Amino acid sequence: MKEIKYAYCNECEDLVEFDVIEQNITEQYKGENVKFKFRTGRCRYCGSEVATDVDYNTRRSKAKIKAYKQLKGIIKLDEISEILEKYDIGKEALADIAGFGKVTIKRYYEGFIPAKEYSDRLLEFLNKESSFINAVEISKNKVKPVTYRKITARYERLCEIGNSKTEQIVNYIVTQLEEVTPLALEKLLAFSNGVNYALNGDRMIDEECQAWQHGPVYPVVYNKYKKFGYKPIDDGIHSSHGCMLSKVSQEELKAIDMVLDTFGLYSPKTLETISHKQTPWIEKRRGYGPKEASHEVIDEKAVKVYYIQNKLNSEEQIMKYILECLKRV
Ligand SMILES: [Zn+2]
Repeated sequence: MKEIKYAYCNECEDLVEFDVIEQNITEQYKGENVKFKFRTGRCRYCGSEVATDVDYNTRRSKAKIKAYKQLKGIIKLDEISEILEKYDIGKEALADIAGFGKVTIKRYYEGFIPAKEYSDRLLEFLNKESSFINAVEISKNKVKPVTYRKITARYERLCEIGNSKTEQIVNYIVTQLEEVTPLALEKLLAFSNGVNYALNGDRMIDEECQAWQHGPVYPVVYNKYKKFGYKPIDDGIHSSHGCMLSKVSQEELKAIDMVLDTFGLYSPKTLETISHKQTPWIEKRRGYGPKEASHEVIDEKAVKVYYIQNKLNSEEQIMKYILECLKRV
């Protein structure tokens, strides 16, 4: 039997049954007409709004504030978190570097809304690494030496990513998916490069890809991340703003997203199984035993032909292809 829930209706002055309806709400907030979507509770007798659970009003006001920030172009909390992770700093240090009062950032997390000029300053930090590091140099005497060292180390790493398209693709994949092991990453890179042929016609990853025992591998990338072993890669950066995607085109991002939404759903072992069904890899494994190491370079032309012939240029086709591969185990 379905459980019947009750809420208190102020109009009916009684506990009433209610419906939950997704609604487009427009409300005045800080002098603006703020529009937002919310699943409201409606009294079944008079239609007034009722709080369906204890968190109802908090959720509702969060949805409104988020819409207000969007409307005013004000930085959102998850973007502030992105700054903290990107530059490897704490809330107080960020406030110091930005020239705000010490507790300013902390207060944003408690629900205060940043003023437009403060928000613009933070957005600039998020989107422009050089402007952040300039601010760090200017406020150097305000931050602890250990904080300063951490920030400059991270900044060097960001510059490395800023200069390498492959690193940007790696960082994007690691940031988008919850958990990516080094071996899963190799497969996702190779699949992304392949799908990009089918979708956009060009080679996306310039590094050489080799036919290793467990599937295609970009040795340059592998050597950089092998220290994570069978654990997920986490460099803590978690940002896709600023220089993090400067060398990757929108079309290429589409190819990568398509791979993450399809292949990205499967375990590393399954990805390996799929990679072993692909002819460009099989061709280069000829003459090698199943457990024998090899460093044969996979032929990019063969990859291009393979992905185009298999029409791997839409999510639907890719999902069909994956199921086909797994049927033939
Ligand atoms: Zn009512």
